[in-house]
Amino acid sequence: MRWGVFSDIHSNIEALDQVLDVFSREKVEGYLCCGDIVGYGSDVNAVLERITGLKNVLAVRGNHDLAVLGRMDLQWFNDPAKAAVKYAQSVIKPELLDWLKNLPPKIERDEFTVVHGSPRNPAEEYLVTVQQFHDNCAYYKSSPCFVGHSHIPVCFLMAEPVSYVEQGTLTELQEFGVPPLHRAVVNPGSVGQPRDHEPRASCGVYDDADRVFTLHRAEYDIAKTQKKILDAGLPEFLALRLAYGQ
Ligand code: ZN
Repeated sequence: MRWGVFSDIHSNIEALDQVLDVFSREKVEGYLCCGDIVGYGSDVNAVLERITGLKNVLAVRGNHDLAVLGRMDLQWFNDPAKAAVKYAQSVIKPELLDWLKNLPPKIERDEFTVVHGSPRNPAEEYLVTVQQFHDNCAYYKSSPCFVGHSHIPVCFLMAEPVSYVEQGTLTELQEFGVPPLHRAVVNPGSVGQPRDHEPRASCGVYDDADRVFTLHRAEYDIAKTQKKILDAGLPEFLALRLAYGQ
């Protein structure tokens, strides 16, 4: 089965729609969302409505989702992020808030695992080093484990028993295969706020038959998103950073 894998949408409907176009061209049959659906951007309800309208979607919650639900201490958020959480709380529709409330922290299937930050700390840990990858292997069973949170498209691969570890960032159309008896973590990058100095929306397609993940990038109308963020009264920084991919 082919899965559209995406994360950190952050209320950016223009970016999400381009990613969904990629998924439709790639003929995906299901969707894996690694969380942070809300936060930062202005299109809180439109993004949630689009995702809840997808067929066959498996989603986990991220730290920004938890913050909007009032389940995460805002002291960990910087001022622009806090402002966006408060904005989302003021506009979110009750039925969409309910849907968000019911998202699990982790999804484990035979074919893959899905979390937001890391398997051992789904809400908070940024999984970015080989050491963290190694230490997290005790906390999930099925590979690949899809993560989000860092907004950087990256992969980790380790043979079992350990003979070598590979790690690297993923670029457009790069394929990453997960051979049998290997542990792997894959981050598809961020749809709505990429931070790898590449402003195009990031996502991936995973084929669980041949166990290959392919990274995709999609251009979107950044100026339109920026204008909506400013019109909503959100901090200018949240609009500006989109143009630089950071
Ligand atoms: Zn995020």
